[in-house]
Amino acid sequence: LLQVRGLRKTYGDRVVLDSVDLDVHAHDVVCLIGSSGSGKSTLLRCLDLLEDVDDGTITLDGHEISDPLVDPREVRKRVGMVFQAYNLFPHLSVLDNCTLAPRRVHGLSKAEAETRALELLDQFGLAEHARKHPDRLSGGQQQRVALVRALCTRPELLLLDEITAALDPELVGEVLTIVRDLAVAGTTMVLATHEMAFAREVATKVCFLHQGRILEQGPPDQLFTDPREDRTRQFLARVL
Ligand code: ATP
Ligand code: MG
Repeated sequence: LLQVRGLRKTYGDRVVLDSVDLDVHAHDVVCLIGSSGSGKSTLLRCLDLLEDVDDGTITLDGHEISDPLVDPREVRKRVGMVFQAYNLFPHLSVLDNCTLAPRRVHGLSKAEAETRALELLDQFGLAEHARKHPDRLSGGQQQRVALVRALCTRPELLLLDEITAALDPELVGEVLTIVRDLAVAGTTMVLATHEMAFAREVATKVCFLHQGRILEQGPPDQLFTDPREDRTRQFLARVL
């Protein structure tokens, strides 16, 4: 589904991503792990075309989307992203947050968009909050709404950047449960996370980033129990 080759990204004279190669197949759950500043968010932002890249290619379904002539809005019709700060529109109800992109970008009617949104809100235990404004909800509920909002566009690929990092510990579980359900349902995802136990459980592939490079990637059981690189071993020793 997605192919990254030789991706390089710099800010001024700082290299933040270097020679990144990554393949994401349909139904993969790819977890990006690594210390703070290793480049996880930058990589996700590059995949969603929120950043210009300096070198290398990103190919979605055989089309090179890193080509500067590609319209990022067309790519974002197929790729959904959820951030650490849920970024819900505060002036819109939960339901309107969820129907905005399907109506404006995907051309669904109000009724179609609302039916789809209410179904998903119901599926994730949020139906009773549909008419509320986001500030009436807990952080965990807001982040679940942000996930539902992304799902309402039926993305082929879902990018999740530390979506539990801003939550109180007791709210982390309810958000991870959704991601776990999505993984079981075969949703293709690339997610940056500091939740190692969770990464180990849901990932089909784990990538360890160090100073802007994917130093090592592999199946979770191998990477967590028998990493090939010393750097990976040192990182895991610190966080596990
Ligand atoms: P964390 O785990 O803390 O979220 P991360 O792995 O997501 O870290 P990034 O946010 O991708 O790391 O940052 C990678 C590097 O790029 C860091 O050194 C950061 O300071 C730098 N960086 C990120 N955004 C910018 C920017 N807009 N301008 C300059 N440097 C930036
Ligand atoms: Mg980050």
